[in-house]
Amino acid sequence: MPSAVINFAYLLASVLFIFALKGMSHPRTAVRANLVGALGMFIAVLVTVLDRRIVSYEIILAGLIAGSGIGAVLALKIRMTAMPQMVALLNGFGGAASALVAGAALGETIHAGGAFDLQFTIATALSGLIGGVTFLGSLVAFAKLQELIGGAAVVFPGRHAVNVICLLLNISLCVLVVVQPEQLLWYWLLLGASCVLGVLATIGIGGADMPVVISLLNSYSGLAACATGFVLQNNMLIIAGSLVGASGIILTEIMCRAMNRSLANVLFGGFGAQAAAKGEDVYKGKVKAASSEEIAMLLEDAQRVAFVPGYGMAVSQAQHAVRTLAGLLEERGTEVFFAIHPVAGRMPGHMNVLLAEADVPYEALKEMEQANPLFPQTDVSIVIGANDVVNPLARTDPKSPIAGMPILDVDKSRTVVVIKRSLSPGFAGIPNPLFAADNTLMFFSDGQKAVNDIIAALREG
Ligand code: NDP
Repeated sequence: MPSAVINFAYLLASVLFIFALKGMSHPRTAVRANLVGALGMFIAVLVTVLDRRIVSYEIILAGLIAGSGIGAVLALKIRMTAMPQMVALLNGFGGAASALVAGAALGETIHAGGAFDLQFTIATALSGLIGGVTFLGSLVAFAKLQELIGGAAVVFPGRHAVNVICLLLNISLCVLVVVQPEQLLWYWLLLGASCVLGVLATIGIGGADMPVVISLLNSYSGLAACATGFVLQNNMLIIAGSLVGASGIILTEIMCRAMNRSLANVLFGGFGAQAAAKGEDVYKGKVKAASSEEIAMLLEDAQRVAFVPGYGMAVSQAQHAVRTLAGLLEERGTEVFFAIHPVAGRMPGHMNVLLAEADVPYEALKEMEQANPLFPQTDVSIVIGANDVVNPLARTDPKSPIAGMPILDVDKSRTVVVIKRSLSPGFAGIPNPLFAADNTLMFFSDGQKAVNDIIAALREG
């Protein structure tokens, strides 16, 4: 296929990717944007497969069938709440693929006795470095989120020194790959060392900081692909990798801001490793439980009600019931809004997706900055399966793993109803004084069942 055709198709695919990214920034256009991105990827893959330089179609076909099959099964089976783990795995495999392809290209060039230019060797070294860090870093993040290993930050004395030594080792091996590219061994040693660096960099991060790490690793996987694009001199890979790298870093920045933390503090702060206060001390004798009938009575008199969803709403799939309850209240003339924290749930936009699925009008969703001024004039805030994102410790305890993270100030409402199954902590593993506050009523139940019980009580009342 003439290279002009290939490059034109790559350009078209790149434009489609950019439109897809733009469209995904709004819920209304997100589904179409996803399809536009998929079309771009289809064009990119098709053109690459038709390229004359392809050696064996059989292997590619086998890979495509196996990969698409696994992808389809995962897409159907993985629950929305396990999406961050899934993204972590995908990032990891992306990083590994980039590093292996760069290694194979280096081996092939050595085998062919070809000359090495500086762009090729530098790109190869970067691909090995970033690809390895992404691969094992993502596997550690996956293991933490899947609770295969403890989710807290693992900190040990001298860890910063060990990290610096490992980083210097990696840089030295990168230099060796660049100055002696004919020695393939340097590359594989670099890959091993970068994997160790990936582990060291990720085990020191824990608790509520994991979402930031996932999005940073996502960015790394893009940068590794971009570096491999320079190795293969493939424009598509360079552009797609840069887009992933840039969008990942923008999302990382947004999430850091949402948690009021600097990226350096997330990466090196070891937050989440501190011993948390014991739940019994916080709750003892102060928690008040309420029934669905009592809550229905409260709601009958309320003029403004806020719904504050969190991870538990996703687990119990309560979004449709919540929508019904909100509709019922609106029919009675109550003003209703939904307060959405940027890291509620287990992935960015998690609550928006669920509420959109239940046809909650987009206008009813209020972001944290819009919602917080409304809480002092809100009669009842119904917290459904949210915990960390409404934990006042973020404001009051500078040692807390969530210190400084802006939260939804539901505690400032006249009455707070918290729906969850027990007093167990959320993702950050810390108790929540909101549950023991004077103006809080706990409704211990599964989220969906609780909301349906309240609806029934309201209808009866
Ligand atoms: P949390 O993880 O803080 O709390 C969720 C609560 O839901 C738990 O306390 C649990 O209590 C309750 N719950 C679980 N299942 C049910 C159920 N079936 N019915 C009712 N309640 C249920 O959630 P938040 O949304 O408040 O906070 C998100 C946390 O996750 C933050 O720490 C954030 O940093 C982190 N995170 C966010 C990501 C993102 O991108 N959004 C990604 C990864 C992590 P109980 O067991 O008692 O029912």
